[in-house]
Amino acid sequence: MKCIDRILLIVCLISPLYGYSCSKVKRDILFQTSTINALLEGIYDGDVTFGELRKYGDFGLGTLNGLDGELVVLDGKFYQVRSDGIVNPVDSSMKTPFAVVTFHEADKTVMANKSLNLEQLEGYLDSILPSQNIFYAIRIDGTFRYIKVRSVPRQERPYPRLVDVVKNQPTFEFYDMKGTIVAFWLPEYINGINIPGYHFHFLTEDKQSGGHILSVITGDIRIQIDYTSEIHMVLPGSKEFSSVDLTKEKQKELESVEK
Ligand SMILES: [Zn+2]
Repeated sequence: MKCIDRILLIVCLISPLYGYSCSKVKRDILFQTSTINALLEGIYDGDVTFGELRKYGDFGLGTLNGLDGELVVLDGKFYQVRSDGIVNPVDSSMKTPFAVVTFHEADKTVMANKSLNLEQLEGYLDSILPSQNIFYAIRIDGTFRYIKVRSVPRQERPYPRLVDVVKNQPTFEFYDMKGTIVAFWLPEYINGINIPGYHFHFLTEDKQSGGHILSVITGDIRIQIDYTSEIHMVLPGSKEFSSVDLTKEKQKELESVEK
């Protein structure tokens, strides 16, 4: 038995005495609800509550049921960036149709003080990721000389497809703003399940604004990367999800939705 296992066992044995529960939730694992292709097809209602989701991570992104804005999870707090730009704390009873979370524990930290646009930032991150075959949760704190984000407006049934929703997406621009990028990089083979490559969300330092990043120019930033080699998916139990066709290739649609 490794030393860490022995410590964990001792913590588990004594924790009931102090009122802690010793759950088996692994911290170095991506937890995901539904699939990106289901979201593209307009499956905007899921059955996982944020109360449940917070057991699986303190860092992440996604959206809310009804496609009611962009989700940013940072330092264990869940934020909804609505389509009018207002940021609300997310209630534990609310649910998500698509979200990815993990417990962010940095394996690598680097500082950068160059002005990087989105393409250059991606290129720089590419150069410091050790493999193209595992998952990365990427936290970037600092100053952003420019940042353009979008949110998505809440939808009513019958739900339109995501590619049609984003034709009218509200966007917001900020200059010289302090905040945090919450991002993931996932391998090419994740195609259909999640977004291959980078997916960036943003939250301002004052937690008053944010969204899904469309454009950026960085200032002084600190990049913290969490290497992750496991994934846990939970699929919706709804009739809509059961009957939707998820076999189609949607790379082009995904690009128009993300960019
Ligand atoms: Zn997004």
